[in-house]
Formats: sequence, structure tokens, C-alpha cells
Amino acid sequence: MAKILDGRIVRDKIAQKLSTQISSLRTKPKLAILQVGDLAQSNTYIRQKMLFGQKIGAIVDHQKFPAGITQKDLISKLYSLNSIPSTHGIIVQMPIPKSLDKDQIIDSISPQKDVDGLTSINLKLLWENRKEGHIPATTKGILTLLDYYKIPIAGKHVVVVGRSFLVGKPTALAFLNRDATVTITHSKSKNLPSITKTANILVVAAGKAKLIGRNHVSSGQVVVDVGINVINDKPSFAKATDGKPETEPVGRKLVGDVDFESVRKIVAAITPVPGGIGPMTVASLFENLLEAYKRQT
Ligand code: NDP
Repeated sequence: MAKILDGRIVRDKIAQKLSTQISSLRTKPKLAILQVGDLAQSNTYIRQKMLFGQKIGAIVDHQKFPAGITQKDLISKLYSLNSIPSTHGIIVQMPIPKSLDKDQIIDSISPQKDVDGLTSINLKLLWENRKEGHIPATTKGILTLLDYYKIPIAGKHVVVVGRSFLVGKPTALAFLNRDATVTITHSKSKNLPSITKTANILVVAAGKAKLIGRNHVSSGQVVVDVGINVINDKPSFAKATDGKPETEPVGRKLVGDVDFESVRKIVAAITPVPGGIGPMTVASLFENLLEAYKRQT
């Protein structure tokens, strides 16, 4: 049975470390989170970030805008936050409405305050393996978790399933920078199992529940499941008081992209969902915030 790589344990250790460091500072690091619209999943992610910020003594300034905000207004908001010295980090919670130009909005964040590491400048610094940028939080969280459990990376074959700008591509690059041999796969890749089986470390970020099953893995592998999917666990219906079924289903459950129960019987180590990369992403974001604070003050 696989060893469980527990992101909650590592997150709590990072929280302790950050909390000690922040308690000795004269001013507090401040993160601005800009949310456009009211997606339930974004609300959940933002709540987790706010709770973590509170726990370590950072300030989190959550600003919510209507889905209809114009590109110009959002960019001018970002410019004004860029110029406020007491705000050290800025993130725009993804996804944002399709009517907005995501790339232009992200690139309106000052690279020094871009603690999500998604501006073109920070991504180029990652591309060049330069240390002065910020690495995207999920990518950083994956590496920190593997380092905590002393899983070697250099010389290993890492297969990344997914090539998004948010997770897949930066993660593949970061592994390359750590001297891994990297293969990136995506929805057009042929015969996925024949590729994923050859990995020493398999990172899955596809957003497809149970995409990776027992036929995709082999013994000795380390499996990192980034996916977060909401499924109906037991498709059942809440009972109304008059005994008739309500229209709202209950039994919703968070699962990753990996069929955890069958894969854990084969591989050497695996991250659970929830409790794996999710908590690591939040902790890594605040590590980036403290780093941004130190560089700016
Ligand atoms: P995207 O939808 O932007 O990208 C998904 C990627 O997976 C694409 O490159 C797509 O390929 C690829 N893909 C889709 N289906 C398949 C398939 N059948 N076989 C191989 N590749 C496939 O998602 P994100 O990268 O933003 O997020 C991925 C998952 O990670 C989501 O579940 C998201 O919720 C989660 N996530 C979790 C975080 C955490 O903290 N744990 C943080 C961020 C995201 P193609 O390019 O060809 O379309």
C-alpha cells in the first residue's frame, strides 16, 4: 500500500514557520485578492486563503467585483494596488469571465507583487531558472511536498499530465530546473497509459475525475494528484419535509484526477484529494507573499 504524502502536515509546519517570522515584523505582509464574479469554487478557495492568512498573522484584503466589470476598470484597480506600498502581494482569483483578457490582466500586476507567479516576467524567470521571481503556488507546493518527504527529483523521469499555463507548464519547467527528465502529456496525447507508466514521478493536473486508474501506473511510482473535481458521490436527493425528493442533489464529494483507491494499491507514494496539493498551494502562496514583503521593505 502506498505511503500517503500528507499536504496538511506540511502546510501546518509552513504555517508555524511563517507565523513565527511574521510575529517579529514591524508591519504585516498584506495580500490583495481580487475576485471577479461569484463562482462557488472561487469563494471556497478564497476562504481557505483568508483563513490561512489569519492564522499566520498576514493581512488579506478580499475585493469582490461584479462579473460585468470592464477590462479598463479592473486594470486601473490593479495599477492602483501596484502603487500602494502596504500591499505586498496581489492575486486575481482564476477563473475570470471570458469577456476579460486574462493575459493582459495578469500582466498588469507588478511582477514584484505577483505572488501567484503568473505574469510573463515571472514565468520567463522560471523559464530561465532564475531565482528572483515568484514560482506559481501550486508548482512550488508540489516541489515542497516532495522535498519534505525526501523524494529525489534530479535524474528522475517526471510525467506531467496537463499543459495549462496555471499548473501543467510551469510545473514541468520547475521539474526540468531540478534536473528531472520531463514528459508533458495533454488531451491529444496518444496512448496515455504507455507514457504515464514509465514515470518515476507522475503529476496529474487535467481536471478529469478518475482519469488515471490502475492501468496508467506501475509499482514504485510517486503519484501527485493536483486535480480537484466535485462529483456526486451517491446520487441521492435531499428529502423535503413532506417526504417528496428535493431537486438539489446531496452527497457531493471532492475527488482528484486519480482513482485513489485502486492506484494506491500499486504505487509507492500518493497524494490524497483533499489533503494533498490543495493545502500546499495555499501555504506556498503565503511563502511567496512573505518573500515579496522582504524584497519590498
Ligand atoms: P485546465 O483545464 O486549464 O487544463 C487541463 C489540462 O489537462 C489541459 O492541458 C488538457 O489538455 C489536459 N487534459 C484534459 N483531459 C485530458 C486527458 N483525457 N488526457 C490528458 N490530458 C488531458 O486545468 P488546470 O491546469 O487549471 O487545472 C487542472 C486541475 O487541477 C483542475 O482539477 C483544477 O481544479 C486543479 N487545480 C488544483 C489546484 C490545487 O491547489 N490543488 C490548483 C489549481 C488547479 P489540452 O491542453 O489538450 O486541452
